[in-house]
Amino acid sequence: MDSNHRPMIEMQEVVKTFKNAAGEFTALRGVNLCIEPGEFISIVGKSGSGKSTLLNMITGIDHPSKGQVVIGGKDIYTGVTESQRSRWRGRNLGIVFQFFQLMPMLTLVENVMLPMDLAEMYDFDERPERARGLLTLVGLEKYVNKLPVLVSAGQQQSAAIARALACDPPLLVADEPTGNLDSKSANSIMDLFEEQSRRGKTIVMVTHDPSLTERTSRTLVISDGLLVKDSRADLDQDKGKRKVS
Ligand code: ADP
Ligand code: MG
Repeated sequence: MDSNHRPMIEMQEVVKTFKNAAGEFTALRGVNLCIEPGEFISIVGKSGSGKSTLLNMITGIDHPSKGQVVIGGKDIYTGVTESQRSRWRGRNLGIVFQFFQLMPMLTLVENVMLPMDLAEMYDFDERPERARGLLTLVGLEKYVNKLPVLVSAGQQQSAAIARALACDPPLLVADEPTGNLDSKSANSIMDLFEEQSRRGKTIVMVTHDPSLTERTSRTLVISDGLLVKDSRADLDQDKGKRKVS
């Protein structure tokens, strides 16, 4: 590895405690994690184990109570304001949610242009063309001018992936992206992630579905706020499938 090498994600002793009227609850109890560029990670664990909380530490949507999170060499919390973090997020991360979270009053192409507008990335005139190109990449070229409600759930999630790619971020983060999809649509969403993984994106995906983990290069298991298992897959050349070693 060259001297410029740095991990995509480093978490050190990350603790997250929620405080509210009911008292305190520690959702992450000291997470240490290192993810290299190009890895395709699945995170599994029971409901309430801390998966979403962990992702929110990576995206900067929430902040740790203790510990350090470094993404692409940048400590995203120490000495960083909320608005700086939000700007950083817009330029460096693509986020995919379980319920797509497309803007209902915007067409698909407008939805995909939005992150470029917000991050002020790419020339103004270039944005529509780039958005259409991304929608074509995910198989939605025929639907660019449709409102989200007029396409299927699977197609909405494909559009959300196109939107996540809008600013060409090195890192894609997805929280149960197939959780609301039938298995055929889930399969095509996994195809899209695999394609992005082959193109060199780093992907961190939380999933409820253990069968999806065999399509990722590494699986982390979280239980009660701690990482309890970390297994890597070798690509089985004969079958073109990944095998957990
Ligand atoms: P998962 O995504 O694995 O289902 P979460 O990360 O959403 O789990 O939640 C982990 C634990 O933290 C759960 O017990 C949940 O109730 C608690 N939790 C999550 N967010 C909050 C919050 N904002 N306030 C209090 N408790 C929370
Ligand atoms: Mg969750």
